[in-house]
Amino acid sequence: MSTSARGVILSEAGSEPELIDLIIDDPGPDEVLIKITASGVCHTDLHVKNMNGMGMAFPILLGHEGAGIVEKVGEGVMDLKPGDPVVIAYRAPCEQCPACLRGDPRRCWIALRPKQRIHRASDGRLCSQVLRCGTFATHTVVHSKAAIKMPSEMPLDKACLIACGVITGVGAALNTAPIFPGANVAVFGCGGVGISVIQGARLAHAKRIIAVDLSPTKLQWAKVFGATHTVLAGSGDPVAAVREIADGVGVDFAYEAVGIPLTIKQAVESLAYAGTATHIGLPADEQHVDLNFGNIDTGVYWNKATIKVCHCGDALPSNDFPLLAQLYLQGQLKLDEMVTAKIGLGDVSDAFHAMETGDVLRSVIIL
Ligand SMILES: [Zn+2]
Ligand SMILES: [Zn+2]
Repeated sequence: MSTSARGVILSEAGSEPELIDLIIDDPGPDEVLIKITASGVCHTDLHVKNMNGMGMAFPILLGHEGAGIVEKVGEGVMDLKPGDPVVIAYRAPCEQCPACLRGDPRRCWIALRPKQRIHRASDGRLCSQVLRCGTFATHTVVHSKAAIKMPSEMPLDKACLIACGVITGVGAALNTAPIFPGANVAVFGCGGVGISVIQGARLAHAKRIIAVDLSPTKLQWAKVFGATHTVLAGSGDPVAAVREIADGVGVDFAYEAVGIPLTIKQAVESLAYAGTATHIGLPADEQHVDLNFGNIDTGVYWNKATIKVCHCGDALPSNDFPLLAQLYLQGQLKLDEMVTAKIGLGDVSDAFHAMETGDVLRSVIIL
């Protein structure tokens, strides 16, 4: 029997998010229907709106940072049952690509997806789901391996943050370019992802964690999450400031969570000899970065810089999500402090506007 639901969709290119009625088919084999209880509002949802659907067919059900309760399970689902609390992973490894087959699922580039089962009630049209999730809704259907069970004591309005922003930042620091104890670290861009890199650096016992941002408010927040030093990017040369704080030689690890050529370049130029710059921020289509290779102090060649790219913290959700929940429950991972606004399903447009104009760490939709 199908399920009546409500959800926030983009109906066509250029349109504003609208809350509408949905009809959801029962989950098929290896799928689960989830009653969403909370969903973070991430920049990627805003990108989907601003980049005309990012290649997905309209209408598009928004949201990909959600948590909820399993309501129905499809045929063959053995490890989940109705009532289980879960966080939805947008990248559940496929188990069939070359990376999965060689036993390296963190490098998988094909995520498991459900069949399309969510219809717009008004005309029956099937909806695309952002990153195979679609969590700005009362209910959604995902692949069963993308529903990661949470400990019963884990509050789901905090657990949802793990699904994208937190795993991306913490994973960059622990998985993509693992920080060694005592390292000097710089983080360019202190939104939800940058703050999570800072948390990862703290968990990895970095010596100095230098937060760089244009916003004094975000730098204050960065300190709450573990930054030991802050650099206000608008006042002077942030590269020189970072290098000076890091013993005058630069940092072992720089993480860039903005996605513009200027900060990508600054992250690389902040490195100490043989350091690693990791790029997390989503760049625009036409972006090129002009990096110097030959300068004796900061050139990529003479500085022996490594440049990496991080997608979703190179996560293995089945392992990493329960670990992050455990760290939260032990008081080592701060999630409560990340929530700067609690909103309803009807407030997505306002939340997008706040992201574009103000200082927001995370707005969380509570259902
Ligand atoms: Zn996201
Ligand atoms: Zn794979």
